[in-house]
Amino acid sequence: MNETQTTFDVEAIRADFPILDQDVHPGKKLVFLDSAASSQKPIQVIEAMNYYYRHTHANVHRGVYQLSEKATDAFEQARDKVQHFINAGSRKEVIFTSNTTGSMNLLVQTWGRSNLNAGDVVILSEMEHHANIVPWQILAQEKGFTIRYIPVRDDYTLDMEVFAELLKAGSVKAVSVAHVSNVLGTVNPLADIIKLAHDASAIVIVDGAQSVPHMKVDMQALDVDFFAFSSHKMCGPTGIGVLYGKRDLLEKMPPFMGGGDMIRRVTLDGSTWNDLPYKFEAGTPAIAEGIGIGAAVDYLTGIGMEGIHTHEQALGEYAHERLSEVPGLTLYNPDSPHRSGVATFTLDPVHPHDLAQVLDYEGIAVRAGHHCAMPLHQERLKVAATVRASFYLYTTRQEIDKLVEALYIAKGLFN
Ligand code: PMP
Repeated sequence: MNETQTTFDVEAIRADFPILDQDVHPGKKLVFLDSAASSQKPIQVIEAMNYYYRHTHANVHRGVYQLSEKATDAFEQARDKVQHFINAGSRKEVIFTSNTTGSMNLLVQTWGRSNLNAGDVVILSEMEHHANIVPWQILAQEKGFTIRYIPVRDDYTLDMEVFAELLKAGSVKAVSVAHVSNVLGTVNPLADIIKLAHDASAIVIVDGAQSVPHMKVDMQALDVDFFAFSSHKMCGPTGIGVLYGKRDLLEKMPPFMGGGDMIRRVTLDGSTWNDLPYKFEAGTPAIAEGIGIGAAVDYLTGIGMEGIHTHEQALGEYAHERLSEVPGLTLYNPDSPHRSGVATFTLDPVHPHDLAQVLDYEGIAVRAGHHCAMPLHQERLKVAATVRASFYLYTTRQEIDKLVEALYIAKGLFN
């Protein structure tokens, strides 16, 4: 796949992902349907990181010698690439973290710790990943603020009427929601959420872990205050993620971790902080991973986010059509167009973990469990576990056909 390619050619894309070309059991070719947990990596990303370690590795920001300057340039260019990819207003607004979880903890422990007190309210939703629940609960235990949840309706979308009422009740300082649910695949109406929250003088934090890899996001058009995502779900390496934040908010926040790089001056009596974004990046950063996320952004941009999105929407449609035919199968996703490229289901009478095991025998990798969304499963869907098949730019219709065939095999085994 080269950068000037204009039509979406899934076979050419697959050729960029060496891992896909393997048998996982004798005669069973890998069918990888777990990209929502972590995507595979194209050779372009693997080679960018490999090149860095072979030719330009040195610590960044400190060295005056050529190798360190090269490493710094490559790392900082990656920040510029991410800035343009999400249309942030400034490179200072792109903080490198370890992943979405790291971004959320940074945000909660800095903005949250300095702005939330007893009597304040933070609104989350019932469909959140643990990364957007637990950090708030940890701070709420200490500070005594209240967490309220936007309910999930029977059609697996957020109840916007209840959301409006929660805002009206007052004292809401922050609204923190997923752009796209990692279980339901629901694409939440972010523009409406942000407008309503801002009208109520609350800031908005978005968990974009499941949106940035799959659709064009635009920080300035959204007017969102904070936005978190992970590199490893968007064809980049593990170990690096992003927290976007509006500059005026970031400027007012205290640092998160203390150490090298994040300071301007240290004396035995105290310290002052470096400029953005470095104020929030203590210690040696994940340099190779930074270069990796930059290469991933180049790769996705070269293919085009519109094409990727359209491909995944079509796969989602096809998967839902095919899966609906399987007797005993229950789907837990909203209707199109409120849905991303995932299919989440249970298959009566097979336990989700047994089902995932049978699918693995057929070479099909799916995820079974609560997908780090226990409240959604246990308190809302009233199921202990579901099976999730998630699609990405390299997924084909034939792979969905194989999934459906394997579900019939599982039914045969357990009936
Ligand atoms: N939020 C959502 C919606 C996710 O899907 C995930 C990953 N499963 C996370 C947060 C956490 O991402 P990470 O493990 O990369 O921190």
